[in-house]
Amino acid sequence: MNFSESYINIHTHHKAKDENVIAVVDLSSQENPDFLSERYVSYGIHPWHLTEENTDLKLHRLQTALQSAIFAIGEVGLDKLQGAEIISQEKVFQEVILLSEQYQKSLIIHCVKAWEQLLAARKMSRTNLPWIVHGFHGSKELARQLLEHGLFLSFGESLLRNISLQSTFSSVPLNKIFLETDDADMSIEDVYICAAKVKNISLEGLKQTVAENFITVFNLK
Ligand SMILES: [Zn+2]
Repeated sequence: MNFSESYINIHTHHKAKDENVIAVVDLSSQENPDFLSERYVSYGIHPWHLTEENTDLKLHRLQTALQSAIFAIGEVGLDKLQGAEIISQEKVFQEVILLSEQYQKSLIIHCVKAWEQLLAARKMSRTNLPWIVHGFHGSKELARQLLEHGLFLSFGESLLRNISLQSTFSSVPLNKIFLETDDADMSIEDVYICAAKVKNISLEGLKQTVAENFITVFNLK
């Protein structure tokens, strides 16, 4: 597989339709996910769908998924605006981190207004595994902090219409970025075109860079 000839969509809830797209498809919301349906599948515990009652079941399902050799764990994370109490979310996130260590799988992270908790968890885990914050749309300063802790940042739909996010994006080193469509009804190619423009590099150069990041983060060599 020549990754640099493909558009890499690091987080989506839809299967890739085009042959020139490699999509990491999130199957977390499916009751009985078919992990063999796609080569690049992620499975996690979305904080929105977490309750006190379903925690054990969700963790058990994640463990089963990991035994089916999923590609990445995600989306998982912390959300102060939706889902269970943040303290319960943190507990589950700790368990997920342990599983990611055990199976050596990277995390694709959903984080809303819980950056302090996320960075604390990162520090406490002492992990070297790459974590990717998906759908990043924060400030330059926040981006800087996350990068300092070894995190990767993935940008999606907002990049096309949010000027201040474009400014943040231009400050993030190329070897730390990913691109995604999440659940938006759009093509990953459009995100790449916008991102290349903001970074003032060629589309080919951007594809090459993201491919290298993909290979590095997921140990594909
Ligand atoms: Zn998502």
